[in-house]
Amino acid sequence: MEYRQIGRTGLQGSIIGLGGEHLDGKPLAQIQDTIDAALDLGINIMDVFMPGREVRENIRKALGTRRERMLIQGHIGSTDIHQQYDISRDLPTVQRYFEQLLNSFGYIDFGMMFFIDSEEDYKGVFETGFIDYVLKLKQNGDIRHIGFSSHNPITAAKVVETGVPELMMFSINLAFDLYPAKVNALDQLTGNFSPAAFGGLDPQRAQLYRLCEQKGVGITVMKTLGAGKLISPEHTPFAKPMSVPQCIHYALTRPAVASVLLGCQTGEEVRNAVSYLDTDKAQRDYTPVMHTLKSDFRGKCVYCSHCQPCPVGIDIAAVNKYLDIAKLNEKEIPPSIRSHYTALAHTGGDCINCKSCEKRCPFGVEIAANMAKAKELFGI
Ligand code: SF4
Ligand code: SF4
Repeated sequence: MEYRQIGRTGLQGSIIGLGGEHLDGKPLAQIQDTIDAALDLGINIMDVFMPGREVRENIRKALGTRRERMLIQGHIGSTDIHQQYDISRDLPTVQRYFEQLLNSFGYIDFGMMFFIDSEEDYKGVFETGFIDYVLKLKQNGDIRHIGFSSHNPITAAKVVETGVPELMMFSINLAFDLYPAKVNALDQLTGNFSPAAFGGLDPQRAQLYRLCEQKGVGITVMKTLGAGKLISPEHTPFAKPMSVPQCIHYALTRPAVASVLLGCQTGEEVRNAVSYLDTDKAQRDYTPVMHTLKSDFRGKCVYCSHCQPCPVGIDIAAVNKYLDIAKLNEKEIPPSIRSHYTALAHTGGDCINCKSCEKRCPFGVEIAANMAKAKELFGI
């Protein structure tokens, strides 16, 4: 397994994590099989947004004495008061459900403010007693870190800007990132894809990922496979379905992403998900899918690493990624971004301007100029 830093939390999360949704309603033996496989393969982060008491208890039982080995995302405001998944901002209800979750797991690693997708959601969390409850949970040590989940880049950026969360759970895949920002959260949830809507990488979503990196907010990814539609021959929005490794790799190459949480429901599915680690560069490469689209990606780095190798060993995608983040506010580059950049084995300042990389970049990025700009901004 590979691990990544989760934002500024100081924690390391496995790049492949577990989404819990599909464990709902499954017998304990099946949940046990799934959790055992996950732990055996080094998965150390999972999401438990499900409000049902039984599935939570079964996950707890399956973890047994290994509870401490799994970082748990538990959601504050996730309820099933109407016999189905429901969002609540009613404090007594929110407290009742979250306390059940605490009783099951003892403590929650990431207390996620559930589903902040609209201005109304934002107000329901930040302009009511909801946020006081969340802060108190953290103060008491019931939750170790504060996070939130969202499908809306504009509202999510507003939440990140508050400085409160350290983790964001967000829906990320190539199809969603191609949508113009006006596509609403419901379309994303229902996977209501329309190829005509593709208009290049959505700048608001790209900006959100950079903002997270800048603020030290880690991202865990949901909808990596677009609810299975991206890999389905019948439902793919592209000329042909993407593969699972392409979808995972796309999400993992976005700034700030720590882990993709995949909705496995058996040990076998966990092993399949983790087999991403055994794939090679060609199997992970998602750019062929982009070439089938009419959208114009030219001039902007999509962090695909096609331009490698660089003769002096620069990780060009990484330099471009930190450069894009630094450009958000050139006068005040966050110390964390500066230190990530300076920790690179080779930086923009090492570029010898050979431009061999530019011949390999499928998107016409002016890489040598970017390296020079990175040197100018970071000083090395
Ligand atoms: S510069 Fe081009 S080839 Fe290199 S990572 Fe960016 S988009 Fe990919
Ligand atoms: S132009 Fe710079 S970044 Fe590109 S291959 Fe040459 S040395 Fe590496």
